[in-house]
Amino acid sequence: MATDMTPAGYPLPLTGKAITDDPVVVKKEGATLEEYPEIYIPGEETLAEDEMRITCLGSGNPIVRKAQAAASWLVELGNGDNFIFDIGGGAVQNLWSLGIPPADLDKLFITHLHLDHVGDFHVLFDAMAWGRNTPLHVWGPSGYTKEMGTEAFCDSMRRAALWHIESKKGLAPSTGAEIIAHEYDANEKEVLVYDENGVKIFSYAVLHCIFGSRGYRLEWNDLSFSFSGDASPSTFDAEHSQNVDVFVHEAFLPAESFAKKSGMLLEHARKVITAHTTPNILGRVFDIAKPKLGVGYHYFIDADTVDPFFEGLRETYDRPVALAEDLMVINVTEEQIVTRMAETNPLAWPAQQPKSGREQTELATPSEAKMQDWLTETRIDPKKKAA
Ligand SMILES: [Zn+2]
Ligand SMILES: [Zn+2]
Repeated sequence: MATDMTPAGYPLPLTGKAITDDPVVVKKEGATLEEYPEIYIPGEETLAEDEMRITCLGSGNPIVRKAQAAASWLVELGNGDNFIFDIGGGAVQNLWSLGIPPADLDKLFITHLHLDHVGDFHVLFDAMAWGRNTPLHVWGPSGYTKEMGTEAFCDSMRRAALWHIESKKGLAPSTGAEIIAHEYDANEKEVLVYDENGVKIFSYAVLHCIFGSRGYRLEWNDLSFSFSGDASPSTFDAEHSQNVDVFVHEAFLPAESFAKKSGMLLEHARKVITAHTTPNILGRVFDIAKPKLGVGYHYFIDADTVDPFFEGLRETYDRPVALAEDLMVINVTEEQIVTRMAETNPLAWPAQQPKSGREQTELATPSEAKMQDWLTETRIDPKKKAA
């Protein structure tokens, strides 16, 4: 047995191989299948016009780890549109490493306002000064009260960034310092929240903690992706994800191992688990939805947790499944679904050539919040010699 495999034969995390028994799922028997390189290297593959590429930007749990950012997924379409679903802590590092200009990443869909799903919001927003001169668009649910909804969240995030925004005036372009919230009614069981350029995105209700948790189903060119964010097992999200190509659903360690890994008291871990889905129950959710590929994410991937994920899941489900790690890439076409890992350059800069071309906007008038004269007078002038 190679040392990069678990005892049951699954690739261990960080070995450059996707954790799945089913790296290729054939959708159309007898079709000629495109061969993909073993590893996805950004910039070295073009997406075909009719193809979808799904990348995991954050596979982890609320506890952000160096190799596991918190919840986030990217969907790129062959028509040039890109969509981000949730933006958990650490996800933006993965996002920028993929070589997509920030200006082409201005559409964010939030499933719910747990911080592990929005922790990198300001990091994404900050691209305003150096890569995106247009507003960031944010879709998300209404809350139980107005203050708990997406619009209030976006407003708070902008207000929290006031010092930051003021400080950039006159220094760097600031026309991207806008957030446009597209809040929809979370009382709706399912609602079409985006319908442009042949892309339809539906939001559906999800059973998770309190009012206002949602999942999203994206449909385009007869290809489909569903992402249920965080979810206790329910027939509702399973039925709203039926027969999709790729269904990304959370998976959570059973209470005993979660308590051990996180240091939480077992009785508390047991409560936390009620808001989530353990692998054996995930199999039942997938069995209702019957996606072509089921994907578990939001799971601590360790050498000793990969096998239990599949053991639990296989008690109730026997179709193609993958366990996500950061930068797992899934290509979806009419003929097949191919799952691989990306290899990105840790020193990559965010790419700089958006599809629409990069407009350089005028600098705004500097902020009135100037520093005190006695302080600015102490500036060391690089042009003058030391006395
Ligand atoms: Zn949550
Ligand atoms: Zn979560």
